[in-house]
Order: sequence, then C-alpha cells, then structure tokens
Amino acid sequence: MKKDDLIAPGHRTCAGCGPAIATRMMLRATGKNVVICHSTGCMEVTTTQYPLTSWKVPWIHVLFENACSVAAGVREALDAQGKEDVTVIAFGGDGGMADIGIRAMSGLMERGHNVLIVIYDNEAYMNTGIQRSGSTPWHAATTTTPAGKISKGKEQWKKDMVAIAVAHHVPYAATASIAFPFDLEKKIKKALEIKGPKFLHIHAPCPIGWYFSSEKTVEVAKLAVDSKMWALYEVENGEKKLTYKPKGTPVADYMKLQKRFRHLSEEDIKEYQKRVDESFGKMFGK
Ligand code: SF4
Repeated sequence: MKKDDLIAPGHRTCAGCGPAIATRMMLRATGKNVVICHSTGCMEVTTTQYPLTSWKVPWIHVLFENACSVAAGVREALDAQGKEDVTVIAFGGDGGMADIGIRAMSGLMERGHNVLIVIYDNEAYMNTGIQRSGSTPWHAATTTTPAGKISKGKEQWKKDMVAIAVAHHVPYAATASIAFPFDLEKKIKKALEIKGPKFLHIHAPCPIGWYFSSEKTVEVAKLAVDSKMWALYEVENGEKKLTYKPKGTPVADYMKLQKRFRHLSEEDIKEYQKRVDESFGKMFGK
C-alpha cells in the first residue's frame, strides 16, 4: 500500500478504533482522486469537529439516510463535467448504511451509478450510545438489547448486506476485514476497475461497544474471520468466491475477548457454533 495517509492523525476516535483503521486503509487503496460522501456516524463526528478536518481528500457530510443519494448526484455531476476518472465513494457505518440509508443505497444500486459503496461495520450505533443495528450479531448485548434474566441480547441474526447488494445485480460485492489489509486493498482496487455500482462491507471492531481492551482490535478482527463469524469473500458477476480459508477457530475464542457476549452459557455458545457452521456451510459448502 502507498505510505501516504489521506486521513490525518489527531482526530478524536477512541484508542483502538477499528473503523479508523478501515478508513485509513480504504484511502491508501483509493489514492487522492476521490470524493467521499460520508453519512453521519462515528467516523464522521470524530474526524470533522469544526473548524478542523482530518480528511485530505474532498469530503462531504451527508445525513444518515442519504449518503448514497448524494454520491449518485456527485457522480452524475462529475460525469457531466467529463471527470469520469474521479472515484466517488458512499461511506458510512452499519447504522447509516445498512439500516437508515438502505433505501438510498438500493436506489443507487438499482439505477447503476458508477459509485463504490463502503460500509465500515462496528455492529451497532456506537456514535449514539451502542444501540443495536440490523448488523449487530445474534445474542450480542447492546444498550437496546441488554442481556439479563429474560434476554440473551439481540434476538435476530445479522443482516446479510452482500446478499442484498447481489440481489441488485451489482457487478461486484465483497466483504473485507481490518485484519487483512492486503485483501482489503486488492478488493478496493478491483472494485474501482469495474464500472457501475460496487459494494464493500468491512468488518471493523469497536473496543467501546464490544467491550474489549483497545490494543486487541486487530486480534479480535482476525478471530472473527478465523472463527467464521465473518467470512472474507467476493461476488463478481454473480460468482461467489472465498478469498481466505478460515482456520475454524471456535467461536468461543472470539467471544471470550468481548464482554458483549459474556452472558452466554456454554450451552448457548454450543448452539451459536452450530448456527455459525451451518450458515457458513450453506454459503460456501464446507
Ligand atoms: Fe471507534 Fe467505537 Fe470509539 Fe466509535 S465508539 S470512535 S467505532 S472505538
């Protein structure tokens, strides 16, 4: 990757912030010729406290719900000026993109704008106080799905955003992780070579909302992949391909570093393991 960082240090993310690592990696892969349309969220509020900004590339703050609409507009305006070479990225967290902004995202993908959509997934609304999102994993405790005597945390399975993107017939959709920088870089570069709407979903652990020690961010991210809690794959013109074969580490090893899962009993974790194995097997046949 290029050494120059296009996101300046001194911003106000928490120590060990996974989304900050994702942002840095994304910009190292895109280079300077890019416009970022960024929905509200952790990476937005922490990088742009007036009158300062950490962004060294053109950047626009957009509401939770319409980063993709604005990105589509920016794309069309650039094209009208003959600036087809400029990359446009719709960027945001899981709350802004996978939940609140999903309607605008669907519109962008269906209309076929030449935009890369990037979600940094910290698996809850961290910026507003750790509320669950559609991307929060099953049984994780959040402030709106607290674990206790009558609850084991979030009741629903994590939303499958790549499947939603693929259902829009996008030419390229993929997942990535901050623990696999070269895989992430390769996917962004590949996506940018393809014309049309592209989708990248980056898993980005949050020490504050997942309750782990801030020096363990990359370790937690790697365990998510090796335990099959987060698969690294891509779908190119409908063809699905794993880009990393996970080691098959027990999900318990991933969970034990995070307090959001600490309420789960051995029995619960066994059931969890079964569901993760089934889900991975259904997707990749192994
Ligand atoms: Fe990053 Fe989490 Fe802090 Fe938000 S709350 S800035 S995602 S570490």
